[in-house]
This record gives sequence, structure tokens and C-alpha cells, in this order.
Amino acid sequence: MAANEPGQPGPLGPSPLSATELDTPSSALAVGAHPDDVEFGCGGLLAKWAADGCIVHHLVCTDGSKGTWDPDVDVAALAQRREVEQREAARRLAGANAGEVRFLRRVDGELDSDLDTRGEVARIIRELRPQVVLGHDPWKRYRLHPDHRHAGRLACEGIVAARDPHFFRDHGLVHHRPDALLLWEADTPDHAEDVSAFVDTKLHALAAHESQFESTMKAVDETQLAAFDQRIRNRLGDLGRPYDMDAAEVFKLIADL
Ligand SMILES: [Zn+2]
Repeated sequence: MAANEPGQPGPLGPSPLSATELDTPSSALAVGAHPDDVEFGCGGLLAKWAADGCIVHHLVCTDGSKGTWDPDVDVAALAQRREVEQREAARRLAGANAGEVRFLRRVDGELDSDLDTRGEVARIIRELRPQVVLGHDPWKRYRLHPDHRHAGRLACEGIVAARDPHFFRDHGLVHHRPDALLLWEADTPDHAEDVSAFVDTKLHALAAHESQFESTMKAVDETQLAAFDQRIRNRLGDLGRPYDMDAAEVFKLIADL
């Protein structure tokens, strides 16, 4: 019995996974808590779509100012550096089809999914009018980092507020309903995308986040960076194996928005 037969447990949970891939959207908006989260979560898919003409936008919710093990770091300088790195990562992922990179600039570790912040995300969705939105799965069990949970909620709840015309009428913008939402880090993913041809691009984009080599990639020299690359390749390979893909990124797909 094939491992991906409907009803069979997948490697990450009990949901049947569909390998049926989405058509390339005209535009996509990926919402991450910190600089680098988008590249980890869906960098391969964004690179694949961009290569097929999709305009790829980023929204980063926090300033990334706690992303270091150095207790004496200048946090303002770190936040500024991380914005530069994020713009470079977006360019590496999407090339000429890189869209906007927006920053909410909430303090790292203090992100909230309150009404005001939800309104800001909804405004950006109404301005950029993405066909697909991607974000952290806020329902991932036992997730410790509050920013990832709140960023996931902001993507979901921002869509609700953006799609219905009576929410945030003060925006003065036409409401916008995306076609689909893809959540990465899902406990029960049900959608796989083949990213075999875009693993190198994803790794190249991740490598733009040089300030994170020590704390996130656990890599301070070439050997350790190569080991990091190999860990990512192995993980994407593991995710793709049930679908006869050399590498995959998997998501919870919500297409009924
Ligand atoms: Zn993060």
C-alpha cells in the first residue's frame, strides 16, 4: 500500500496528504514572525512560483532584535541589519519577481495578535491583494515561541478582516479575499509541493540571513554551514519521499476562504 494513499498516516500526522499542486498564483504574500521564518517555511515554494511568474511579497512582523546570543549586541543595529538581510533573501528567492517586503517592526518576542495589529495586516492584504497567503500554523501543538503563534493568527485573522467589507472601513480600501491560505509547520499537513528544483534557491536565500548563522543555523564556519545545508536537504527529502518527490515543502491548505 502506498504511503500516500488517502487515509494512510503520513510521516508527520494522521492527515491524508494531497500531492496535487496548486496552480502558480499571480501573487503571494508570506507572513513570518521574524526575518528568516518565511525562507525556512516556504522558501522553496515561493522560489518555484516566482520562477513561473508569481510576484512574491513578504511581511515580517517583528524586528528580529532578539535573534542573537550576544548579550552586548546593539539591538537597534541588529534590527536594521536583519531588514537588509530580509530584503536580500527576498531578492534571492524571487529575483525579478520579488514584490514588496513589509515590516510591522514589533519588538521581537512581544508580538501580539490584537485588534490593532490584525488591522495592520488586513490593510497590507488589501493593499497588496495577494492571490495566496502563506503563514505559520498557529495551531501547532506545544509551540513555545509566542511570536510564531501570533504571526500565524495574524495571517488567518488578517484574511478574515481583509475579505469582509465592513471590517476596518477606515482603511478606505476595497476588501480583498485571497483564494487560498497555506500554513507551514502544520501538525497535520494535507498539501505537498514539489520543490526539488528550488532547494538551492531556498538555501541561497537562507544564507542571506548572516546574522543568524550562529544562533539559528548553528554554523560559524564553512563545515558547519555545509552541515546546515545538508540538514535542510535531508528534511525536504524526507518530506517528499511519500510522494515520489526528491524534495517537498508541506502545508495545511485552506482553500475555502
Ligand atoms: Zn521565527
